Amino acid sequence: MNIQLIDTGYFYADGGAMFGAIPKAAWQRRYPCDESNRCVLAMRSVLITGCHGGRIVLIDTGAGSGQMKRLNHYGFFNLRNLTGELSARGVPAEEVTDVILTHLHFDHCGYATQRDETSGRLSPAFPNAIHWISRRQWENCFHPSPLERDSYFARDINALEKTNAVRLIDADTTLCPGIDLCLYDGHTPGQIAPYIHTPLRTIVFAGDVIPLAACTSLEWISAYDTHPLISYTEKVRMLETAATCRQALIYCHDARLSCSTVRKVRDYYKTDRIITL
Ligand SMILES: [Zn+2]
Repeated sequence: MNIQLIDTGYFYADGGAMFGAIPKAAWQRRYPCDESNRCVLAMRSVLITGCHGGRIVLIDTGAGSGQMKRLNHYGFFNLRNLTGELSARGVPAEEVTDVILTHLHFDHCGYATQRDETSGRLSPAFPNAIHWISRRQWENCFHPSPLERDSYFARDINALEKTNAVRLIDADTTLCPGIDLCLYDGHTPGQIAPYIHTPLRTIVFAGDVIPLAACTSLEWISAYDTHPLISYTEKVRMLETAATCRQALIYCHDARLSCSTVRKVRDYYKTDRIITL
C-alpha cells in the first residue's frame, strides 16, 4: 500500500478552546499561537493506493470551499482543492472507491460533496465511492446536541445519502484486508479511527481523538469535545496500544508534526520517532 498525506488547507482555532483546561503558560510552549491567541491548524487527508482488490481509499476531505462565507471567522488559508490534489497524484475523483469520513464536523468532510454552479445541486465529489461513516455519527449530524449544532452542515451530507453512497457502520469493521475502522467516542459519538496495517508498522489516523501531537498528553482535551471524560479513556485506549505495538499516529490538525510513534514514560505518553509518509 502507498500512503500519502494531503494537506487541504489551514485555519485558526482559539488556543484556549483547543487545549481545554490546560493553562496557556503550559500549552503555548508546545503549540504556538499568535497575539490573538489563535493557533494554526492543518486539515490533513490521507490517500491510500495499492490496496487489496485495487481499491483507492481516501480518509477525510477537509473543510472544502462551499461554506467559506459561513465559516469566515476561522480565517481559512492555503485551501487546496482535494480533487485537484488527487489528480496531480494520478488519481481521478471517479477512481476513488472508498471515502472514510472519520466524523462529519465541517473541517473533515467539506470536499466530499460539490455544488453544480448552474443548477446549484449538490452531489458527491467522489461519484463512485462508498462513504464509510458510523451510524451514531450520522444520526448525531442530523440530530445534534446544542454544543455540536454549528459543527455540521447536514444538508451537504444529505447529498451523499440520496445517491446511496453511504455505508453506515455500527461497530469496528474491516474495510478491506489491511484497513480496519475502529470507533471512538468522547469528541463526538462514533468517530472512526482508520488503522492501516503496513509490513513495517500500523499507522493510525487519530482524527480528533488526538488531533495534535501535544494532545498525546492525556489531560490535553479540547473544549470542543462533548464528553471529555470519555475522551480521556478513549485516548488511553488508543495510546496504550500505539505505544505497546509501536504504531504511528497521524495528527490530522497539527501544522508542525504530521506523524510519529509514541512511547509511554511512567503514566505519560510522549511523541517518539517522527515518521515521514
Ligand atoms: Zn471534530
